[in-house]
Amino acid sequence: MLRGTLLYLSEQPTARSLFGGPLAKPLVRRFVAGERLAETMDAVRAINAAGMSASLDNLGESVASAADANAATAEYIGILHAIERAGADANASVKLTQLGLDIDAALAQRNIRRILAQAEQFGTFIRLDMEGSAYTDVTLQIHRDLWQRHKNVGVVIQSYLFRSEADVRAINALGARVRLCKGAYKEPASVAFPAKKDVDDNFVKLMQLLLSEGTYPGIATHDERMITATREHAARHGIASDRFEFQMLYGIRRDLQEQLVREGYRVRIYTPYGTAWYPYLMRRMAERPANMMFVLGGVLKEGRL
Ligand SMILES: Cc1cc2nc3c(=O)[nH]c(=O)nc-3n(C[C@H](O)[C@H](O)[C@H](O)COP(=O)(O)OP(=O)(O)OC[C@H]3O[C@@H](n4cnc5c(N)ncnc54)[C@H](O)[C@@H]3O)c2cc1C
Repeated sequence: MLRGTLLYLSEQPTARSLFGGPLAKPLVRRFVAGERLAETMDAVRAINAAGMSASLDNLGESVASAADANAATAEYIGILHAIERAGADANASVKLTQLGLDIDAALAQRNIRRILAQAEQFGTFIRLDMEGSAYTDVTLQIHRDLWQRHKNVGVVIQSYLFRSEADVRAINALGARVRLCKGAYKEPASVAFPAKKDVDDNFVKLMQLLLSEGTYPGIATHDERMITATREHAARHGIASDRFEFQMLYGIRRDLQEQLVREGYRVRIYTPYGTAWYPYLMRRMAERPANMMFVLGGVLKEGRL
């Protein structure tokens, strides 16, 4: 119920003035690596020093103009140059709506091709984040088109969607890389499992398909039961720890991130930066409403309630 309300608010820009702004400062500091790319690269260096890789995300989605989509594209090309200059162990994650998908699919395709061409020159990988179910088909279609020419592009599959098993099998057949996550958007019961247990069971099933038949999957979760299931499947089938990676979000379960590194697993940290943090943070609160206490704690400390 609270999850649904928070996800609804994540899509309402007008609610930003209520939940966003200074009230959210403690959450922003916890979940967002910086406002600008330069300071974010310091966070990436620290992540690398801790034995983990990063995936940089310039916060922003569903831009309203071609100019904004082109500016986001330029920012991503800047990210690739910054990774190259720093010699960082990092790649980038991007949302197609940030590159203009809601305006014109051809615009988003031109922009992602520019990013991929630059990434190819630097030997870097680009992940297409997965957004709400209205974008699943078009995102997978664009990914398939890109795959004809570019092999440095991967996509994301969400275990809450009924369709995902068929999508995983199709992408495994292509040989492309998948990040598996549970899914962060508000979805109707016509397309997604309403019960968490079913989402989790499907996650385990898709993880097994990806580990056994896929290409270097990213298992993106903070759920210890999902992580244990992954380790057990890998051990049972002799799948070496360099054939997949765990992925977690910046600021979440640092203890678990470090423990996995100590145990010899690959861990990549999704590292968002920028000022357009409102929908991203609302989704993080929806995943764990206890995060609201950070906001409320901050408000109380600053005497604003
Ligand atoms: C690297 C990465 C990339 C992602 N990319 C996408 C994407 O492209 N598209 C998409 O729809 N979703 C994406 N997600 C979000 C994902 O779909 C889930 O919403 C999110 O990861 C929470 O699910 P969980 O697997 O951690 O399990 P849950 O069952 O939600 O949580 C398990 C435990 O993890 C911890 N935890 C989980 N979330 C939080 C949080 N916000 N704050 C604090 N603790 C938390 C808690 O201890 C919780 O009990 C991504 C997640 C990760 C880690």
